[in-house]
Amino acid sequence: MNFRCECGQRIHDTTDYLSYKGYLMSDQDQFDLLDKIDDAIEKSGPSSTDKEEAAMRIRSLISTLFKTVYQCSNCGNFFIDNNHPSLEMFRGANQVNKNLLVSALGDKWRGFIYAEWKDKIPDWQTSNGTLFNETNSSSLTGQLDGNGKYSDWETLEQDYYQLFNELKNKNVIRYSQLKKNYTVIHSWSLQK
Ligand SMILES: [Zn+2]
Repeated sequence: MNFRCECGQRIHDTTDYLSYKGYLMSDQDQFDLLDKIDDAIEKSGPSSTDKEEAAMRIRSLISTLFKTVYQCSNCGNFFIDNNHPSLEMFRGANQVNKNLLVSALGDKWRGFIYAEWKDKIPDWQTSNGTLFNETNSSSLTGQLDGNGKYSDWETLEQDYYQLFNELKNKNVIRYSQLKKNYTVIHSWSLQK
């Protein structure tokens, strides 16, 4: 889904791990949830089916109790999905922090790196190569933050490995992938 803030910014909710989306729970519900988690750990039966059912009950309860919230990254307006027909909007006071919904771990949150190169530029793209730093951590060089666009493969490849090594050493990535003409050249993911 996506919707437009009054400032004109379009807010998309079509992928996971969004830095401007979060969840809100009432204090009236918190202890019930903690009790149910305790029960799931302590009182579920011994079999793997029992454990799976207990885990599913917790997931279902979490999706019932948590209300989805969004923050506009342009103006800081807050939106709460309270199961009303439309989202409820709240305007921030002066100097609003527009990053209220980023991970509680801040720049230590483990994010993603994606890089892709295509010899033939598709209609919907403006460059052959793109490098996405989807972490909350900046690159030391400062040149590899956000989304970089590339017109030669060697530079993209070099920047990708530099960014990968830097962020992997800082323990702030969970997944990284480099593709060239739809073929995976490099991929790395955190061991669970
Ligand atoms: Zn806005």
